[in-house]
Amino acid sequence: MISFKAAVLDTCTIARPFSDSLPLKIETIDAAGPNAHEVLVRINAASLCRSDLSVITGVRAWPMPIVPGHEASGIVEEVGDGVMQVSPGDQVVLVYQPSCGVCPCCEEGRTYLCEPGLAANRAGALLSGPPRLSINGETIHHHMGLSAFAEMAIVSEHSLVKVDNDLPPEIAALFGCAVMCGAGSVINTGNIQAGEMVAIVGIGGVGASAILGAQLAGASRIIAVDIDEAKLETAKELGATDTVLGGALAADEILELTGGGVDCALETAGILGAFETAYASAKRGGRVITVGLVNPATPFSLDVAAHVTGAKTIHGSYMGSCNSADDIPKFVELYKAGRFPVEKLITHRMPIGDINIALERMAASKALRQILTP
Ligand SMILES: [Zn+2]
Ligand SMILES: [Zn+2]
Repeated sequence: MISFKAAVLDTCTIARPFSDSLPLKIETIDAAGPNAHEVLVRINAASLCRSDLSVITGVRAWPMPIVPGHEASGIVEEVGDGVMQVSPGDQVVLVYQPSCGVCPCCEEGRTYLCEPGLAANRAGALLSGPPRLSINGETIHHHMGLSAFAEMAIVSEHSLVKVDNDLPPEIAALFGCAVMCGAGSVINTGNIQAGEMVAIVGIGGVGASAILGAQLAGASRIIAVDIDEAKLETAKELGATDTVLGGALAADEILELTGGGVDCALETAGILGAFETAYASAKRGGRVITVGLVNPATPFSLDVAAHVTGAKTIHGSYMGSCNSADDIPKFVELYKAGRFPVEKLITHRMPIGDINIALERMAASKALRQILTP
């Protein structure tokens, strides 16, 4: 049994500001393991993602108590029996969708849809077994098989990807969610071809990563949409060719700008209105990619006849349709070659003790990626 500090969520809250309501408490927790096929990782950098907010507020239900954190990097401290692909001292990126390798989805080559991985995540457990975390004997659940807002994490051997040790830890962390969900949604799910026009609705960390991905893919126009003027400025610095203020008129403006709509429109805000803008911004025959986790209580209603005559495609993008073991090394190589400047996604750095301040900044949409260090 080992002990380390972690940010624990006991009960969900919507009380703002989070810097006053303090939903996450830094506590010393116990951890058993690593057992067979598990790895103990010392976390060097973790970043906050907008979907962490849905854990805090309870918009998406998770077993409590839980240690959140699903975008992180660290160094392997110890491996359990049977772990072959990493050794102590290796740097790893943690991956929030474990892939068993043998279920129908994994066998099809779509490891991001791994069914046992999803079931383990929903149970707050590990792919390799029940939760390993506790306080005074009370079970603490894992978030997405990781629980990275902590000094250490015990994870399945299928919840990580080895990367070079010379990759800066804060950069490595970004590949776990922001890079795969953003750039992956453009390149893999959206299959953007050189010369195509793209709209990205919602410029948080994932939307910003999608802008970088659209540049990599050779998009001729990258139209950034957000309700915050400051985010639109950021989008321009990242490489957006056009910016449009979000709201009821945004889609009309995009149709006007493009002479009929974009080839591919991505929703990266997790807000129904952003999805509606993306849908209306796609040209006839265009693709609509939905990336953000919209509140399940707000379903989208579709004019089916118009959908048929408009011949649009709506495609959900989970983890950017990435097979992490293949895609993370590819994205890392592009970063190293200077073609994928993911460091631009980092807007703040702070110790994990300030996590509630970071959470509030995320909720107020005043950050892209905030790096927390132990
Ligand atoms: Zn995320
Ligand atoms: Zn699987």
